[in-house]
Amino acid sequence: MQKGKINVQTENIFPIIKKFLYSEHEIFLRELISNAVDATQKLKTLSALGKYSGDISDITIEVTLDPEKKTISVKDKGIGMTSSEVDKYINQIAFSSAEEFVKKFKTKSESEMNAIIGHFGLGFYSSFMVSEKVEIITKTYQKKGETKAVHWECDGSPDYTMEDSEKADRGTEVILHIAEDSVSYLDEQTLLGILKKYCKFLPVPIRFGNEKNWETVEGEKDEHGHDKRIEVEKPRIINNTSPIWKKKPVDLKDEDYKNFYHELYPYTFEDPLFWIHLNVDYPFNLTGILYFPKVKRNLEVQKDKIQLYCNQVFVTDSVEGIVPDFLTLLHGVIDSPDIPLNVSRSYLQSDPNVKKISNHITKKVADKLESLFKDSRPDFEAKWDDIKVFIEYGIISQPDFYDRAKKFCLLKNVDGKYYTLEEYEALVKPAQQDKDGQLVYLYATNQHEQYSFIESVKARGYDVLLMDGILEAHFINTLEQKLEKTRFTRVDSDTVEKLIKKEDALPSKLDEDQQKSIREMMEKQIDTKKFTLAFESLSESEMPLFITQNEFMRRMKDMSALGGGGGYGFMGEMPENYNLVVNSNSPVVGRLLLEPDPDKVSAIIKQLFDLALLAQNMLKGKELAEFIRRSAEDLKI
Ligand code: ADP
Repeated sequence: MQKGKINVQTENIFPIIKKFLYSEHEIFLRELISNAVDATQKLKTLSALGKYSGDISDITIEVTLDPEKKTISVKDKGIGMTSSEVDKYINQIAFSSAEEFVKKFKTKSESEMNAIIGHFGLGFYSSFMVSEKVEIITKTYQKKGETKAVHWECDGSPDYTMEDSEKADRGTEVILHIAEDSVSYLDEQTLLGILKKYCKFLPVPIRFGNEKNWETVEGEKDEHGHDKRIEVEKPRIINNTSPIWKKKPVDLKDEDYKNFYHELYPYTFEDPLFWIHLNVDYPFNLTGILYFPKVKRNLEVQKDKIQLYCNQVFVTDSVEGIVPDFLTLLHGVIDSPDIPLNVSRSYLQSDPNVKKISNHITKKVADKLESLFKDSRPDFEAKWDDIKVFIEYGIISQPDFYDRAKKFCLLKNVDGKYYTLEEYEALVKPAQQDKDGQLVYLYATNQHEQYSFIESVKARGYDVLLMDGILEAHFINTLEQKLEKTRFTRVDSDTVEKLIKKEDALPSKLDEDQQKSIREMMEKQIDTKKFTLAFESLSESEMPLFITQNEFMRRMKDMSALGGGGGYGFMGEMPENYNLVVNSNSPVVGRLLLEPDPDKVSAIIKQLFDLALLAQNMLKGKELAEFIRRSAEDLKI
């Protein structure tokens, strides 16, 4: 038997390993299985090169749990190690890299450590996070020279022992004797959960115990005449060794992509809208599939579903900094050995490789959207309502995305027609310019609530966009910056007459004195702090009295509501202010001047004002109830 100290110069790192690697202890399993997979892949390569002629038909890695003995073991049929290899790789190299790792991060806080440790395994020595003793029993694949099996053992102090072993078959078994404080890992469901999390798509089959399945017996019937089914116990393989992102797109059908989506997200029932299969090998290596999901109203719950893999080993599902923010709404997997995982987030964001990857993904997404648009505009339009949130988010948050997206970004009007930005400009240019030559895009944010305003604008031959998406308040602001000489105005913001210059503006039927007396009558009855009265000469068929709101003020308020009291929080304190527009050509308004009974005048004004409030959904509660009662009363006469 050989005894030795792993490294005599160093202080004992095991307590440090334990102490520092606080909440991410579970990655020990990922580390051991990754080593087992590597050893197996190496053997496969040797075999393919003709350098190994043994049988490699069964290369399954076995994970076993023995709660009684308090052990967990990982056993592979890979290349194994000779005793000098154990000495070199385990006693020296692996130890010094673990030691280096601990030294490097010793100064970091616990939370920083936790962020790093998930991405950077300690390798083999991470097993000491959960074990009081670790054994390695290994036999090399080599048939000549030093071929004896080796038994290595270490109890968490720098002392180890190494002796010959009787192991007959090729490969390595690592046995962990779980420490008292880590016995929670001695639970089948816990282990299964960890395996499913990290190892679901590893390229070598991994078995963890058995599972029971119901199977149909060919040609036999049960007593009810149904196909006979019996329960059979089979090895439980926890991984899918060839996930579709590693396959060629030409070999895959839509069904395969959809099935894989549901394999990734078993709790999502809806199919994805479409997907992008990524496959890059220069200047960096990256494969993956990005799915466009159906987006719900709440964006946050949709985020952070992309899973990041490094050679099929799960690393994280927080891809912040690796893909552009707007693409975190997508789902799927990204697999790349080139993403530096052993660094902090802030470093990641400035890493040139990560930048390249991020740009590449953005480009791929834009290309895909553009080709969908070009290949079939009707299909693209049919998807638009579901995908606009991605595109709008991209345009808002990623300046260079706009340059690509402007070709396929659509605007939808209240009649359900879709236009590209260019088409829409051409559509409204002839009729919708203000006196300064600015284009005015009219929009509604709620087709029902703003119905009367939409109708009145449409009656004049103008077009109204429907902007009712979750991001559209921000999107409008961004578009105003991007589009030249263009501004957006909500249909109930200002009267269209004021906005759009019209050569044939109607003359007013009321002269200045008449307007003055009507103003006096009205101002007696309304809250002039809240409502500012203005006269406009509109068509007779327009409402006699209506309420509009300054576009800028309203947007500020909407933004502050969206921001939940953030930067614009103070706007919530602002006094509400509206325009009360009197249509001086309305016959009802004219009637006010002729009416001798002041009670009647005030009743008419009250009714007109309530109607104006009603059209803006501002008549509520007691006022509304009184309005209804009064209106019903009026019908009796
Ligand atoms: P890394 O895997 O990053 O190289 P580890 O500390 O996990 O670092 O392992 C150190 C070395 O020990 C490996 O590079 C490999 O040579 C050897 N090794 C570990 N596990 C096995 C195994 N299951 N089979 C064969 N060799 C192994």
